[in-house]
Amino acid sequence: MENHANPSPAIPKWSALLIEAVTKPGLIMKAYSAFHQYSVGNQILALVQCQMRGLQPGPINTFPRWKDLNRFVKRGERALTLCMPITCKRRDEDSDEEHTFTSFVYKARWFVLAQTDGQELEPITIPHWDAERAIKTLNIERVPFDHTDGNVQGFARKRQIAINPLAQLPYKTLFHELAHVILHTDDGDFADGETTPRSLCEVEAESVALLCCESLGLEGADYARGYIQHWLSRGSVSNAEAIPEKSAQKIFRAADQIIRAGRSEVDSVTN
Ligand SMILES: [Zn+2]
Repeated sequence: MENHANPSPAIPKWSALLIEAVTKPGLIMKAYSAFHQYSVGNQILALVQCQMRGLQPGPINTFPRWKDLNRFVKRGERALTLCMPITCKRRDEDSDEEHTFTSFVYKARWFVLAQTDGQELEPITIPHWDAERAIKTLNIERVPFDHTDGNVQGFARKRQIAINPLAQLPYKTLFHELAHVILHTDDGDFADGETTPRSLCEVEAESVALLCCESLGLEGADYARGYIQHWLSRGSVSNAEAIPEKSAQKIFRAADQIIRAGRSEVDSVTN
């Protein structure tokens, strides 16, 4: 979700979507239950558009995909916009080598179930999520907790994490430490106490924990939400600017990596 500009004012920025998710308990879970095949950022983007247009959230597909499912998009329905990765090629002028890179574009080509009619859909099951599978898939190692300070809930060092066996919110701490490994440990180690210090790295890790806990229905979302809301309320800056857009992109991407890594099935849709 980097290196792209939003196409129109109608599509909210990632930071605005994140703040929407932080300030409305239940929104992340609702987005996950309806749109779990899509990336965490796109789930919230889709849900916000459904709410703006008064559409019931549900499965989303492109026009041809609905046709494959023997359903058709109703006359006059406008497509929802999602953010898609595209692979681009660039030829290096000096070496004449071809490089590929990923860019992101917004496309309006998805329709939610409520915008379609036709054959009844098979019920959709949400895949099971497993913490150990996520850790392994992310190429992260869980090591024994050897910190001497009992207040420390967990820590992250390079690609290793440990969770205090007595941690108050073990899943929240797990997601927080996984986020540090994905986003921050190249620059140093993290040991997290009962009170999270106020820094941008911490708000990023705690936001990832919030997205993961609430999506998967695991305990810890309330605590993470409280911390982030406290962060947002500091000083006189308006909420929308409190979390930089670049941080919001990193947060959505890390949460998405963690959730996908722990799922029992490989999804065919990758947007
Ligand atoms: Zn931390």
